[in-house]
Amino acid sequence: MRGEILSVGTELLLGQITNTNARYLSERLAEAGVFVYHQVTVGDNPERLRAAYTAALQRADVVIATGGLGPTYDDLTKEVLADVLGVPLVQDEAALTTLRAWFAAKGATFGAIQEKQTMKPQGAELLPNPRGTAPGVLWNRDGLVVALLPGPPHEMRAIFEASLFPLLRAASGEHLLSRRLRVVGIGEAAIQERLSDLMAGENPTVAPYAKLAEVELRISARASSDADAEALVGPIALEVRRRLGYHVYGEGDQMLHDACGEALRKAKLTLATAESVTGGLVAERLTRVPGASVYLRGALVVYSLEEKPRQLGIDPQRVGDGVSAQLALDMARAVTGKLSADVGIATCGFAGPEGREVGLAYVAVAGALGEKVRELHAHGDRQEIRERIAQAALTLLWEQLPREE
Ligand code: ATP
Ligand code: MG
Repeated sequence: MRGEILSVGTELLLGQITNTNARYLSERLAEAGVFVYHQVTVGDNPERLRAAYTAALQRADVVIATGGLGPTYDDLTKEVLADVLGVPLVQDEAALTTLRAWFAAKGATFGAIQEKQTMKPQGAELLPNPRGTAPGVLWNRDGLVVALLPGPPHEMRAIFEASLFPLLRAASGEHLLSRRLRVVGIGEAAIQERLSDLMAGENPTVAPYAKLAEVELRISARASSDADAEALVGPIALEVRRRLGYHVYGEGDQMLHDACGEALRKAKLTLATAESVTGGLVAERLTRVPGASVYLRGALVVYSLEEKPRQLGIDPQRVGDGVSAQLALDMARAVTGKLSADVGIATCGFAGPEGREVGLAYVAVAGALGEKVRELHAHGDRQEIRERIAQAALTLLWEQLPREE
């Protein structure tokens, strides 16, 4: 099944909002087994909307439009669709009764706007909106599926998931199942080298996506059932894990701080952090994990040059300009003792934007896992540099932590 996504809204064309609906729908349609060949964005203009619908209906089996369904554009969008389909616009009596009752129960006045919302092209059905009043519209006849969904992402998603995804998945007969492996401490080029034969495969496909200081490897298979797809994806995922070893820290939405937390918990190790350039970002990430107090003893932000000796008892002579491998190691050692933790991690560096050597940073681990310090040259703006350094500190910790392989 060929799909097309129509994003309606002048604000999209003006760059005032990001088209997250198209991104979401493209991903979900692929998972439902619909191959999206075109994404079209069009303004709130009847002629151009008509042209967009006409083109989409000619080349796609599934057309999903979002936006322009609200009271102000209501009749416009539906009228254009009805016109292109060659049917009149009619009242959906059942929807009208339901909506009236809903308004009466809330004590709200039911007006012409609400009445318009229950209009539909003849032969179409209205899709209930669990998150708002504007219902979706579904035309599902003669091998053609056209859906109109409201623009607000939470309403669009609610209707799509409840009414469209199951229908499309059943209709397509084949769908996509993906597993995402999360990888740190190895670049895309090196991954490519180790997995080139797997990446050449067509079903499943293996593709890397660069994220902030990590790579997501997506393994996707097309099959007619989840079990068949899993039978294709499973062995490849295992093989990728075998080749990349500890670089694969997790799957799906799991993040590096989750993986570190779990490993610390299993190893019954406690942790303390001393952060300079990252200003607490490492601790912030670690404390996102529920129950982190089991292993995280505490975190110090020692930002100025004076605070490093004062709070950590580091020899002022060794602080220098506040950025060195030695200092990072001293900080990691000192915080381990200060907070009676088994392991300490530390960061220092230049986040810019002014000054020399912007992006130069050191991250260190000390204590029960041995001592290790790493120099990095992080790029990006100030915030990105700080996030990269925090990620590097967690990566170093991850590499030292005991794990099953
Ligand atoms: P409403 O009834 O809320 O007016 P609508 O169906 O008329 O809904 P629009 O007016 O086109 O939809 O958009 C409403 C809001 O939904 C936009 O201001 C924007 O915040 C969001 N939105 C619309 N289209 C998209 C999109 N493609 N991606 C992300 N957000 C969107
Ligand atoms: Mg609107």
